[in-house]
Amino acid sequence: MTPSQISNDPAANLDALRTELKAAVKEAGRPSERVEIIAVSKTFPAEHITTLLDAGHRIFGENRVQEATAKWPALKAQYSEVELHLIGPLQSNKAKEAVSLFDVIETVDRPKIAKAIASEIQKQGRRPGLLVQVNTGEEAQKAGVSPDEADAFVRQCREEFGLDVTGLMCIPPAGEDPAPHFALLAKIAARNGLKTLSMGMSGDYVVAAQLGATHVRVGSAIFGARSSG
Ligand SMILES: *Cc1c(COP(=O)(O)O)cnc(C)c1O
Repeated sequence: MTPSQISNDPAANLDALRTELKAAVKEAGRPSERVEIIAVSKTFPAEHITTLLDAGHRIFGENRVQEATAKWPALKAQYSEVELHLIGPLQSNKAKEAVSLFDVIETVDRPKIAKAIASEIQKQGRRPGLLVQVNTGEEAQKAGVSPDEADAFVRQCREEFGLDVTGLMCIPPAGEDPAPHFALLAKIAARNGLKTLSMGMSGDYVVAAQLGATHVRVGSAIFGARSSG
């Protein structure tokens, strides 16, 4: 969707997005593939989120543990089968809250956090889905393992920490063609036997879907522009 096509009805935007994604995967020759939409609700209050929950949508993303802890327990109590994804960096002192609230943690990116998650899974008996974040652009300010270290880190998560990593996530550098980054992520996933690929945001979800995304993370093209965050 171009900015002018984004309406102030999140449910209508979600429908339009679904149609666009279906066309994209068909065009790319993966017509039977379903691309899940993670509605990124960071900075938006519960009223905006309930509009989508009432329309039947269940998959959401938040980038901050603290903000999610303030908004989501009440929503999860009210609506069943919510699948909440953590898409922002995780500090090990927040691992306890993250494991208890999130259904998928997409940002596993270093041994310290992998170890903290493993320990909380043991304690809580709750097993969120886990993705490793890869810093495909090797940007100094960005979280994620470097592409060179990804295979070894995935193996370490599995063998040393007993974590069931099922996929990869990336955020390509702003202002660059995202396609090579998505292709690289897909390649690393394939050689590690990982099926889930979380890639593509409001500006590039079509390209991501064509290159194998199983999940796109879309905020502003659903909820409108954010004032912060
Ligand atoms: C905010 C955010 C998104 C969504 O961004 P939009 O451009 O609003 O779609 C996706 N992924 C991550 C990691 C984010 O922090």
